[in-house]
Amino acid sequence: MSEEQKLTKGISRRKFIQGAAIGTMGLASAGVLAGCSPQEASKSNTGSTAETSEITAWDTPPEAISDNAIKETVETEVLVVGAGNSGMMAALSAAEAGARVILIEKQPTYITRTYWMGAVNSSMQKKMGIEINRNEIAEELCRYASHLCDQRLINLWADKSGEMMDWLVPILEAGDLEVVLEYDTKEGFYPSYPIAHIAVNRNAEYKSSNALIGAQYYMPVLEKKAIELGVDIRYNTPLAQLVREGDGTGRVTGAIAKNKDEEYIKFNAAKGVIICTGGYARNPEMLQALCPDSLSTGFCIAQSGPLGEGIKAASWVGAALETQHTTMIFDRGLVPDGVKLGPPWEGTYWQLGSQPFLRVNVNGERYANEDLPYDFGTNAVLLQPERLWWQIFDDNWKEDVTRFHTTGCARIVNTEGAPPRDGVDFTAKGVETYIEKGLIKKADTIEELAQMMNIPSDKLAATISRYNELSKKGADEDFGKRAAHLSTIEKAPFYAARLSGLLLCTLNGLRINTDIQVLDKNMNPIPGLYAAGNDAGGFFAHNYPELLPGVALGRTMTFGRIAGINCAKQSI
Ligand SMILES: Cc1cc2nc3c(=O)[nH]c(=O)nc-3n(C[C@H](O)[C@H](O)[C@H](O)COP(=O)(O)OP(=O)(O)OC[C@H]3O[C@@H](n4cnc5c(N)ncnc54)[C@H](O)[C@@H]3O)c2cc1C
Repeated sequence: MSEEQKLTKGISRRKFIQGAAIGTMGLASAGVLAGCSPQEASKSNTGSTAETSEITAWDTPPEAISDNAIKETVETEVLVVGAGNSGMMAALSAAEAGARVILIEKQPTYITRTYWMGAVNSSMQKKMGIEINRNEIAEELCRYASHLCDQRLINLWADKSGEMMDWLVPILEAGDLEVVLEYDTKEGFYPSYPIAHIAVNRNAEYKSSNALIGAQYYMPVLEKKAIELGVDIRYNTPLAQLVREGDGTGRVTGAIAKNKDEEYIKFNAAKGVIICTGGYARNPEMLQALCPDSLSTGFCIAQSGPLGEGIKAASWVGAALETQHTTMIFDRGLVPDGVKLGPPWEGTYWQLGSQPFLRVNVNGERYANEDLPYDFGTNAVLLQPERLWWQIFDDNWKEDVTRFHTTGCARIVNTEGAPPRDGVDFTAKGVETYIEKGLIKKADTIEELAQMMNIPSDKLAATISRYNELSKKGADEDFGKRAAHLSTIEKAPFYAARLSGLLLCTLNGLRINTDIQVLDKNMNPIPGLYAAGNDAGGFFAHNYPELLPGVALGRTMTFGRIAGINCAKQSI
């Protein structure tokens, strides 16, 4: 067992957070990266080794990289870390505002797999006669977060995302992309808002609907524009540490990164550093410490970048971290037989997972309304045995899915205005492939299906019989699912998918203010340090409100842009 594992093992989440908070708070005031070892820092901060023994490696500052180890020093005004959604927007916006900008990215290229961009009252929405009540949408987000959020940040997104979109759309159109608005949002118990703007490449070859839209097309357009504006983009250049002046209360004056030959480069950033490294969804140690339920997922589709490196570097120099357990988890993690939940996430993606078909637990019992926002559905199963559910449907599934008319990335059918989707026939080919691979169970009788699921057949038959009865009545007297989302399971063949959550990203990052400056433990801005995207917290708590489709990316892009503009404005 590694030292890190020893430290985290057996520590309750509450205790851990206490320990981490005490530890990092102390580290801030002790002047981290000023040459003291982690052990020294811990002792001097809390005066108690008992408390500090609960601090795990991720939030323990490493030794400061010494000047002797620096191979090259580079001067700039603004340094942006991470060429993803927030980073590209920040770099572009800072350069447009007149600053000299360097953008460093650890991978060989920019991020390519994001799609829905949520914005409020853009010109496109207004032209279509859509006006969204700013206070209402802000309160809806706060309600999702149980107000464990900073409403000023939510207001900022509601007030500024339309402007951001109005700035972005002409840039994307000049790059031969069309931007469409998904306005056909259907409402259930939970309100849904027509905020999703999507960039579509009408010239792309059709392989699947997602191959026509999103970051794979808009990021090269933004990259080109950034280069035209003079941004110096350096790929294969991972951030290692931030540099903060003085005794831990001074400015962040730059950062140290590695080049492709693993040599250290020091970037002095006269105006500031903007952290945009995409959260920590690929860092199991941080997930265990901060979002332990996220490990009960069957699959993770985060790209390989988000290891929490930006969040760690900022917390090592005294930044405050939002500790509310907050992730983006969808109900589409297919867990094949014999595969366990959690890292290394050996499950796979199941597009039909969010369809509101019957769900039963591993005992064959229905346990919740299936018509819930994605991560409410995955939360509900956390109280069930094995934290898994079976999704069950029959040969009528194509008609059912068409009638269900789900929205955003759960949508299967094409509807007016919305970006292209695969449709049921194309989706059916995928279903067949999964059946051939043994990932989805298919049987001619419920009894046979129950055997394949390892559930007593009388139990499953009774649950299905009751569900059919309620569906025919059009009234879910047991769990209150709305009538349009009920379906019968009567026509063979019958299908079953073994499902759990699908982890996309983390959303509880560094505390920021409405200038997108990173805050210290006393809630004061750290001069010279900004953070946007998944590296920033205070906006979501405990869930991702997917019925506001694209609100994560909309926040990311809006705040990335504001951070770039604000950082560029700093006087030297
Ligand atoms: C597959 C997928 C699809 C998604 N689609 C949507 C969507 O359609 N709509 C939506 O609202 N949300 C979506 N999300 C959520 C998405 O994560 C956020 O909306 C948002 O885009 C995150 O932006 P970001 O800038 O924080 O991170 P990213 O866009 O992920 O960029 C972070 C960048 O930082 C780089 N990096 C990491 N560490 C370092 C380091 N040490 N040094 C230098 N660079 C580093 C990474 O390599 C990466 O390029 C999706 C998430 C996933 C995983």
